[in-house]
Amino acid sequence: ARFVNVQKSYDGIELVVKDFNLDIRKGEFVTLLGPSGSGKTTCLMMMAGFETPTHGEILLKDKPISGLPPHKRGIGMVFQNYALFPHMTVAENLSFPLEVRHLSKAEIKEKVDKALAMVRLEEFGDRRPAQLSGGQQQRVALARALVFEPELVLMDEPLGALDKNLREEMQYEIKRIHASLGVTMIYVTHDQTEALTMSDRIAVFNDGIVQQLASPDELYERPENAFVAYFIGENN
Ligand code: ATP
Repeated sequence: ARFVNVQKSYDGIELVVKDFNLDIRKGEFVTLLGPSGSGKTTCLMMMAGFETPTHGEILLKDKPISGLPPHKRGIGMVFQNYALFPHMTVAENLSFPLEVRHLSKAEIKEKVDKALAMVRLEEFGDRRPAQLSGGQQQRVALARALVFEPELVLMDEPLGALDKNLREEMQYEIKRIHASLGVTMIYVTHDQTEALTMSDRIAVFNDGIVQQLASPDELYERPENAFVAYFIGENN
């Protein structure tokens, strides 16, 4: 996936993403890290197809994604508030993205069972989201983003609503799933520690601009400017 000279303005005047270039390698875990309002979510929303760039292009396997409707892009998405369907059971929540892709009943069951096992929720298929803990709901959201075997998974502050212990457990789970599936992941967070522990590479955002794109070690040892040094150092 690739962002080329992407700019975004919501009001036609002020650019909230000023010039975004990012070439994401297959299987990579890339984090967009930055303070609130720096434009991270906007970049993710453009990739997902919920927002259109004002300028520039986003490519998926070298093809512009603008030609594809969101459900044809092969992109799974996990939100901070889970966005599960409350009236459906866990298994029905996971079946939904497969039904819209017209898979057979047998295929749906097989993939749903596999996804539930991946997030260790085999026993919970018949529950409704309200009957689960926050951490379990986030696992369901993760399973729903993975169930149709997307090539790319986008995650927007997925652990933001969880307490510290659960957050650390889920960071580990997400990394385990990332390693076992080899799927490409783009992760948005404002939490430095989370970004440093999880990512192959981090794009540090401020004010609509990527200040530095580098591995966690490089960012820590060789910050390119004062903002990066300050922001990376802040939590440590
Ligand atoms: P946060 O961590 O708080 O979500 P962020 O880095 O993800 O922040 P964005 O959500 O991308 O930042 O917001 C960047 C800027 O764009 C902000 O100034 C925000 O107010 C503005 N913005 C975001 N979404 C919209 C929208 N739908 N309409 C108008 N302005 C928006």
